[in-house]
Amino acid sequence: MEKQFLKFLVLCINFLHETLRSRTAAGTTSYVFGDPKVGKSELVGELTKYFNLFWFSLDGGHSVLYKLPAAQQEKIRLIVLPDTGDYPIAAETCRKVMKPGAYQVCLQHGKVSCFLCLKEKNPIEEINLHALDLDWIIVWDNLSQLGDSIMNHLTKDKEDTFKPGWDEYMPQGQLLTNSLVAFSILLRITSVLHTQ
Ligand SMILES: [Zn+2]
Repeated sequence: MEKQFLKFLVLCINFLHETLRSRTAAGTTSYVFGDPKVGKSELVGELTKYFNLFWFSLDGGHSVLYKLPAAQQEKIRLIVLPDTGDYPIAAETCRKVMKPGAYQVCLQHGKVSCFLCLKEKNPIEEINLHALDLDWIIVWDNLSQLGDSIMNHLTKDKEDTFKPGWDEYMPQGQLLTNSLVAFSILLRITSVLHTQ
């Protein structure tokens, strides 16, 4: 069973590689979707055979990346956003870093220009997605979590019993669309960013 899965993984990764390579001039966006725990993140991690990955982990699923050979792990820049229902930081940070410019994101809170961490001189990661070349792919893992984060952000001042309606789903859909969000994981060659 595991052998079959690995064969499938190799097929998928070759397909993804060909698709991404063939469209490098214009940049491209790919989605990997499937049931939980089927190996989506593992599959995308295999792209380190061909590309560098700028990986945003929104749900802590990045632990599978540590199974990759060391040389492949070195090709990943990992940003972990500690997103929860009470602290929907992914919505805020993703929206900011997708815009042109350099942003300082603290490792502790995953927040852009975190006042507390800048003051305490805590570890900061500088992110400028528009400065990446076509050897890089940006990975959002995963987009369902980003959708939840946006909704949590929109309803953060409401009571726990509040049920979202049109006023919340509309802006959530808008924000997701703006982020090119559709499925679980988005792979993105950076030139796509410049066309937005
Ligand atoms: Zn911070």
